[in-house]
Amino acid sequence: MKNSYIVDGHCDSLINYVNNDRTLKDSSAGGHWDIQRARRTGVALQFLAAFIEMKYKPDRSLQRGLQLIEGAHRFIADNLDQVYLVQGKLDLEQIPDPTCLGILLSVEGGEILGEDLFMLDVIFKLGVRALGLTWNQRNALAAGVGEADTQLKLSNFGQEVVQRMNKLGMIVDVSHLNEAGFWHVLEVSQDPIAATHSCAKALCAHPRNLTDQQLRALGRHKGVVGVNFYPHFLKETGVATRDDVVRHICHIAEVAGVETVGLGSDFDGIDETPEGLGHVGDYSYLPDDLIKTGFSTREVEQIMGRNFMRLLSDVLK
Ligand SMILES: [Zn+2]
Repeated sequence: MKNSYIVDGHCDSLINYVNNDRTLKDSSAGGHWDIQRARRTGVALQFLAAFIEMKYKPDRSLQRGLQLIEGAHRFIADNLDQVYLVQGKLDLEQIPDPTCLGILLSVEGGEILGEDLFMLDVIFKLGVRALGLTWNQRNALAAGVGEADTQLKLSNFGQEVVQRMNKLGMIVDVSHLNEAGFWHVLEVSQDPIAATHSCAKALCAHPRNLTDQQLRALGRHKGVVGVNFYPHFLKETGVATRDDVVRHICHIAEVAGVETVGLGSDFDGIDETPEGLGHVGDYSYLPDDLIKTGFSTREVEQIMGRNFMRLLSDVLK
């Protein structure tokens, strides 16, 4: 099957770029994701995450976050003939652009805000259009899945952040958020939300995965789940193949509706990959796998990219 463009809701390749490990131009230095393979395989839009590593938290979260955001702008400037920054509805109109790859800048970890709402406006002005409220721990906004035993909902500050994100036109990302926080975000947010890189708990009982109830609620609120390729989220044995990614896609489509399913590889943020899906170039096998499973051409296009595009056009200004 040809012509289905891809939107990937999460990769961590930016850290490689900022640490000077790779230029992300091509596959010569290894890694899961680079411009050449992404474009060749049909990626039209990539969420590029600024993931704030543990060693910078909490004191240097802002410093590191800004370093990563600055790195993203440098990466785009270095490759202006091939990539561009997506910041608003108008930018979405040129997708899919066969000559250029859209980049949506996201921050993974609300620690970057400290306890200051104005910092959200600052990162918005720096081009950030998605924010994962937490990683696995607790911060001033909410608690991550690493603290799943707590019944902690969003803090007052966390609620203000969600409301302000709605006003600005930013995607609220609930991957890594604990369950109480998840339900609270759905109460507070006026806009649909995303779990940019999460899988189905019914198929693999990992704390990072979403229950059927959560998946159904995301669907009801017109949200999108990007299926994560990390083998430990796909299968309890921790050994997975591309078929397991397809199983999670099928399950989420059954439970929450096909319009709720997307892709969120987590490439370059995971140290293992499923067999047959080892890098961004392997995306080209997925459409045929999905067709064989019984999805229509239109449904495959939705899963590969159109659902995330719908969410973006609902949320971005
Ligand atoms: Zn993550």
